[in-house]
Amino acid sequence: MTEITRDVVIVGAGAAGLTAANELKKAGLSVAVLEARDRVGGRLWTDVIEGAMLEIGGQWISPDQTALIETVDELGLETFSRYREGDSVYVGPDGAAHRFQGEMFPVAPETEAEIARVTDLLDEMVAGIDPDRPWAHPQAAEWDAISWDAWLREQSDDDEAVRNLAFATGSAMLTKPTHAISLLESLLMAASAGSYSHLVDADFILDKRVVGGLQQVPLLLAERLGDDVFLNQPVRTLEWSDEGVTVTSDGMTVRARRAILALAPVLYSRISFVPALPRLQHQMHQHLSMGFVIKVHAVYETPFWREKGLSGTAFSPYELSHEAYDNSNHGDERGTLVGFVSDLNADGVFALSAQERKERILTSLSHYYGPEALDPVVYYESDWGSEEWTRGAYAASFDLGGLSRYGAYLREAVGPIHVACSDMAGAGYQHVDGAIRMGRLVASQILETRAE
Ligand code: FAD
Repeated sequence: MTEITRDVVIVGAGAAGLTAANELKKAGLSVAVLEARDRVGGRLWTDVIEGAMLEIGGQWISPDQTALIETVDELGLETFSRYREGDSVYVGPDGAAHRFQGEMFPVAPETEAEIARVTDLLDEMVAGIDPDRPWAHPQAAEWDAISWDAWLREQSDDDEAVRNLAFATGSAMLTKPTHAISLLESLLMAASAGSYSHLVDADFILDKRVVGGLQQVPLLLAERLGDDVFLNQPVRTLEWSDEGVTVTSDGMTVRARRAILALAPVLYSRISFVPALPRLQHQMHQHLSMGFVIKVHAVYETPFWREKGLSGTAFSPYELSHEAYDNSNHGDERGTLVGFVSDLNADGVFALSAQERKERILTSLSHYYGPEALDPVVYYESDWGSEEWTRGAYAASFDLGGLSRYGAYLREAVGPIHVACSDMAGAGYQHVDGAIRMGRLVASQILETRAE
């Protein structure tokens, strides 16, 4: 068992932990980052599967995500835009594919008017929310007590309008059934991206990718830390007092003045805290749970949809894969589609055999792009639900009522134990940008205590 002493020990080598570690090291503190997996990056993972480079985890960058953009620039990484020429496709309740351009789905004029009316209302409500303190809004408790679905159904009797409004923060973002998330959680998700309209604008929210993959961000951050990153070190025990912490993983013991938990908060209970964490944290952490989505990658010899004048962007609240995009790699002749199967739909297809699941998902993609979609040369499902050190996707959110009840305490340190993760971010919530913001914030909190 290796024993070392550092100023700060960081549990988890995702974007949040590695950002914090770099900030602290730059300020002259000594650090050790203990990572459970045999790689860094956590939910950022770029890998080659059967010859195809795939973004198994996070990949897109939007213009409001300035912390991530600064980091990408600072690391010298190049970005490129998602292919977006041509028509998008919408599958409505009639089951037929309808082409369209712009942000509004090709729905009946009455439905379009309903979507526009409620979108304006949502933008107004979101403008009053501080993403870093949604619980401080005067109506926070009220908005946290009603489900996103129930609130939308109070606003409109138009089922197609409600489904289209719901999925932007539901299946597409929080990846939980819309009856299981509160209106306040939905407003936070929208506020974290600047507005509800931003969330439904695919050209905004899914703007850029990094050439060679977004995992390069954590890989390069880890490179700067050199021997201070320790892989295959799942942390099992964290002893703490006013004097500091002793953190024990499978192969090491680290003594430090402070610890940063830079893992998804749903995993805190995997660590034995000695003494136990206070009652508030025990309660609060149980009200957070992971969303669940399958990211499906289908690679074809050519991006055949482009020849049909399609951009690859496709949506339907009626389809198994509720959204799909052209995800071809930079400079690659082959075409890649990425589709998403979320929450209840994901549960449903995981009850099937792998072959049946693949057939069902590709059939759904074929409803957008035609029969050519049925025969990819590479097919892969990112299943983060089965990953021991993540347990879901994209991230964790509070259950109904949890955000207004506990949100204010989520980022608070307990003695020498600090926390940082995208799942507790305000701006950049549940995104890499939020992870970087939380990494910076926790580092500045620790550096402030040093100055005292
Ligand atoms: P993590 O990346 O989860 O890092 C935590 C680390 O802690 C992990 O490496 C884990 O192995 C480690 N760990 C856990 N337990 C222990 C332990 N006991 N001991 C030691 N180490 C431990 N975001 C975007 O911005 N754009 C996107 O397009 C996007 N798409 C996504 C698609 C998918 C399929 C997924 C899964 C996520 C996506 N996200 C996206 C979200 C984004 O990837 C995450 O919000 C972000 O990467 C989280 O970073 P983090 O450092 O907070 O947590």
